[in-house]
Amino acid sequence: MTARNIDGKAIAQAFRAECAVRVGRLKDAGVVPGLAVVIVGDDPASKVYVRNKAKACEAIGVHSEVHAMSADTAQAHLLKFIATLNADDAIHGILVQLPLPKGIDSRAVIEAIAPEKDVDGFHYSNVGRLLVGEPAYYPCTPWGAMKMLEHESIAVEGKHAVVVGRSTIVGKPMALMLLNAGATVTVCHSKTRDLAAMTRQADILVAAVGKPRIITGDMVKLGAVVIDVGINRLPDGTLCGDVDYEAVRQIASRITPVPGGVGPMTIAMLLGNTVKAAELAAGTGVRG
Ligand code: NDP
Repeated sequence: MTARNIDGKAIAQAFRAECAVRVGRLKDAGVVPGLAVVIVGDDPASKVYVRNKAKACEAIGVHSEVHAMSADTAQAHLLKFIATLNADDAIHGILVQLPLPKGIDSRAVIEAIAPEKDVDGFHYSNVGRLLVGEPAYYPCTPWGAMKMLEHESIAVEGKHAVVVGRSTIVGKPMALMLLNAGATVTVCHSKTRDLAAMTRQADILVAAVGKPRIITGDMVKLGAVVIDVGINRLPDGTLCGDVDYEAVRQIASRITPVPGGVGPMTIAMLLGNTVKAAELAAGTGVRG
């Protein structure tokens, strides 16, 4: 068996085109969706992410503004600034690029964002809504993975999904989304004994670890759907996922490549959440 790729680039593109149509409708109603991105310090990777997010917004007609602050910014100043963004009617989504410099309490900063503008889906209010299965802004990366499954008509209900990784931004919300969609979910992490025995049970296997090719061919059930969230830079500068792609594609039925898999979906979901926030503010949208 050779797995068919799930083409994240193409799915993200189609989703962005859909978002552009919704932006057009909002503009006809006199509303321009707006995203404010706040970056503190000068982490080079964060700068690239922020630039890409701004570019993606402009491409579909979403107003975006990047607020760059120095690494020694006081937490109180940042919180005050977020309060001004909360009160700004031209801004529908607020994103604070993580990680924040040492000395700033990321949780306090996230909680300062108005939940209805929390397009990253990290505010307790949105996390809680996900837990109880209510519409909310869901974290963009696992939400993007769910959208890929939906787009490919891969049924989730009744399947055994195994998620490797339990981070707050990927693994845990991914597990909750799969659970809410009717899967039986196993969550694995660094303390899991006999990881391979767990992953081999998966009809849908999601790897969100951050370790190059930790999921090898012998860890995957024949015909499984494999979603590789990992993005790892190898010493030679190339990117690879958490899944040994060449080996696993001989066993799986569907697989997401890296790059070109889950990665492009993340920014697309951020756009979707921002457009949704604008629709809700304009009284035309529904959450979820
Ligand atoms: P974290 O480092 O926050 O979490 C990694 C998780 O993997 C932890 O739960 C950890 O367990 C678990 N883990 C570590 N080692 C092992 C092991 N040997 N066996 C089983 N589990 C293990 O990473 P993130 O969740 O933030 O990111 C995961 C990956 O996804 C990274 O490669 C990251 O770059 C990528 N990513 C991709 C995005 C995209 O847009 N496509 C967006 C966000 C992340 P424990 O909790 O016990 O420590």
